[in-house]
Amino acid sequence: MTANATRVLVLNSGSSSLKYQLLDMADGARLAVGLVERIGEETSRLAHTPLATGGTKREREEAIADHDAALQAVAQELGADGLGLDSPELAAIGHRVVHGGQKFTEPTVITDEVLAEIERLIPVAPLHNPANITGIRTAQALRPDLPQVAVFDTAFHTTMPESAARYAIDVETADAHRIRRYGFHGTSHAFVSRETARLLDKDPSEVNVIVLHLGNGASASAVRGGRCVDTSMGLTPLEGLVMGTRSGDLDPAVILHLSRNAGMSVDEIDSLLNKKSGLIGLCGDNDMREIRRRIDEGDEQAALAFDIYVHRLKKYIGAYYAVLGRVDAVAFTAGVGENAAPVREAAVAGLEELGLVVDAGLNAIRSGEARLISPEYARVAVAVVPTDEELEIATQTYALVSS
Ligand code: ADP
Repeated sequence: MTANATRVLVLNSGSSSLKYQLLDMADGARLAVGLVERIGEETSRLAHTPLATGGTKREREEAIADHDAALQAVAQELGADGLGLDSPELAAIGHRVVHGGQKFTEPTVITDEVLAEIERLIPVAPLHNPANITGIRTAQALRPDLPQVAVFDTAFHTTMPESAARYAIDVETADAHRIRRYGFHGTSHAFVSRETARLLDKDPSEVNVIVLHLGNGASASAVRGGRCVDTSMGLTPLEGLVMGTRSGDLDPAVILHLSRNAGMSVDEIDSLLNKKSGLIGLCGDNDMREIRRRIDEGDEQAALAFDIYVHRLKKYIGAYYAVLGRVDAVAFTAGVGENAAPVREAAVAGLEELGLVVDAGLNAIRSGEARLISPEYARVAVAVVPTDEELEIATQTYALVSS
């Protein structure tokens, strides 16, 4: 790596999408961001914004056959802005990898063995790890000389004690099938808990934080002194909070009931719980903006969906308060957490005895900055902290390759 190699390309590969950002770690600047969607279809779409040159968003619609072709197209777009992947300034490529199992507790330089282990984890992450592996292989083919780093969604949660990570099922069965709680969104929980400490002017080791990552997927975590001690997602990202399209927690016997009495197949139940449940299952919409609009018009179904969403959230705040014993801050993040003031207000309403209060005026302010929304006198800080998973992946990647 040359001394002026300070750029990191972050790749987040989904089954039919490729999100990317090019960052300069000399100053954390975002040089380009983009997204390829509908890979493998006739109507693939590439949207690319060259922030470094102040350029506006460029869009291409054409058939992009696979991830290989997608990355080639991205390389072309970057090249047109003088940010090509052949640049000596590129230090590494950082990959978001969803499932790292118990083994990967840190960002890891990708070798053949590392890739083989990510492959071995496919049974516990069938939707995500194959796409991540494709992204890695494609990037390796394009720049075989460059370090490629895997940053795992599960890594931040590997500090959970066994009491939180194990399900209460037969130990032999659990171990034989790697059934335990892994947690996800770890990159975001790590970033947001650290930023919350910064906002409080404290070192992360001094503070206990409940992080509420509320996007389309949603998860809560309890972070003691910078280390995760519990999180709401489990073996898969289905457990825990009510999400856009996922049910979150439910009695596992519901699955048996649907199988035995509703004649549903495993795949049908999988699809029901992951794609047709949560907010969309409850009211037909998964976008919180639309749900709030409907509530304002007096829609009772939307109001009930909102109440169920908030009730679950509040239960987790209470549970993690008890897990941590002392809470310094509750931090809201991701699409809903950063933008939906009514969700934040409702989630902590009635928790004054726990020291949790939201100031209505502060809560109403819209801003892209990390900020407190609790009054000064409150015992527990309530914060809105925009997450930045790409910056965190780039930071971890660069720290590893430049050390
Ligand atoms: P993902 O999990 O897909 O990364 P995001 O963190 O981007 O999701 O969150 C997406 C969700 O955020 C949307 O589905 C929507 O419910 C919510 N959201 C985005 N903007 C707003 C807003 N201004 N008000 C309320 N909710 C919002």
